[in-house]
Amino acid sequence: MSSIRCDIYDPKEYDIWFAAAPYGTASKPAKSLKQWATEEQADVVYNLCLFNMTGSGSDQYGVIKGRTLQYLRAKNVDCGYGGTAEHLTVSAGNVVAGVKVAVRDGVVLSGLDKSTYRSRNMIGMLADGRIIVVQSSDGCTEEQVARYAAGKYTIKLLLVQDAGGSTGMYRMSDGYLFAPEKEGADGRPVCSVVCMRKKNKEENDTMSKKKVFIGVGHGGSDPGAVGYLVEKDVNLTMATACRDFLTAYSVDVKMSRTKDENDTVNDEVRECNAYGPDLAVDVHNNSGGGDGFEVFHTIHGGTGKTLAQNIEKHVKAMGQNSRGVKTRQGTSGDYYAFIRETVAPAVICEGVFVDTKADAAQADTLAEQQAFGVAYAKGILDTLGLAYDEPEDDPEEESPDEPEQPAKEHWAQQYYDSLIAKGVKIEATRFDDPITRGEVFALLDRIVK
Ligand SMILES: [Zn+2]
Repeated sequence: MSSIRCDIYDPKEYDIWFAAAPYGTASKPAKSLKQWATEEQADVVYNLCLFNMTGSGSDQYGVIKGRTLQYLRAKNVDCGYGGTAEHLTVSAGNVVAGVKVAVRDGVVLSGLDKSTYRSRNMIGMLADGRIIVVQSSDGCTEEQVARYAAGKYTIKLLLVQDAGGSTGMYRMSDGYLFAPEKEGADGRPVCSVVCMRKKNKEENDTMSKKKVFIGVGHGGSDPGAVGYLVEKDVNLTMATACRDFLTAYSVDVKMSRTKDENDTVNDEVRECNAYGPDLAVDVHNNSGGGDGFEVFHTIHGGTGKTLAQNIEKHVKAMGQNSRGVKTRQGTSGDYYAFIRETVAPAVICEGVFVDTKADAAQADTLAEQQAFGVAYAKGILDTLGLAYDEPEDDPEEESPDEPEQPAKEHWAQQYYDSLIAKGVKIEATRFDDPITRGEVFALLDRIVK
């Protein structure tokens, strides 16, 4: 599944500038993202992608050079001609080199691409003046990325940087590259970048960032609970959204897994203690036929209990009912290893019951699963005493006087329910997917005694 990252930079804390190679040169003056970051002495650089050297068609140098030139000239800015010596400041009046507007004053505009799935790259400004960079790893339409960002932040303006594909971010401190298109270890060669550098660097470097560990329950050969949803997959989506929200507020996050792979509780505990986080959260979903969210903390209370309470508050605020903030006693202290053996205050979140139809429906879409992750993140930020942005209204919200239509049940649902009731194990519904002859034989073999 594709992931979308939103990075937020406060101009009060960061110097943010646009750097470009000279237009005049005959050869294509492209440099890797790492090279740009090094030369500009930036902490992080983003591909501005308007000078993409490696593309074809509308991405070709000439076309893009012309478009940007026009844009900048209209603004009476000569950036580009003088090379990196000329820096164009990113400000409200001059978000650099945008082509298409994705979001204006919180509203996702029509006219965005809804059918082409690629990696995406957007830049803009929040209502509070902070700069936002939004990028997707792959498989997203323009509209999906715009809606995702607008659903999480109060956005004044968000610009699509190009028609897609030209993502890229390089972070100097650890050599981290976000480049889904894999253009080498140092990032795609480009002719212009957006640069970020923390002000008062020495002072800030000594201030320690908060750290959070996110355990992602089950994975690989262990699917976790299976019913209307497969737990391991839902856990990963929730955890990823939680991480993305936290990193947008400068929290360092480590996840126990970022893809579908084996990941035992013992591995999680070991990894968590090696990382030494301020807080730890294990993301799970429930089974056993109940209804609602629940969260476990240590029998000894303290910060873990506060964390559990804060998370529960945000889960309830988003509309999921709660079975409560709980503890569970074992033979030697806490029952759950993730709570008993982690050094940091830790909680286990159980979002929904995957085997209760109505409850599973609370988290059967990508957006709903991400909302759980964001609720967990807000509970974590509250506990750490860190502030965050609350969008005033959800642009996807339907008008209040329109009664909500219950989703029409698939014709095959009754047969699925009946099979489950008879004890037949089925991994996922996917009613409209084709079935192979092999799967038919396997199914028949399980049913015909
Ligand atoms: Zn679980």
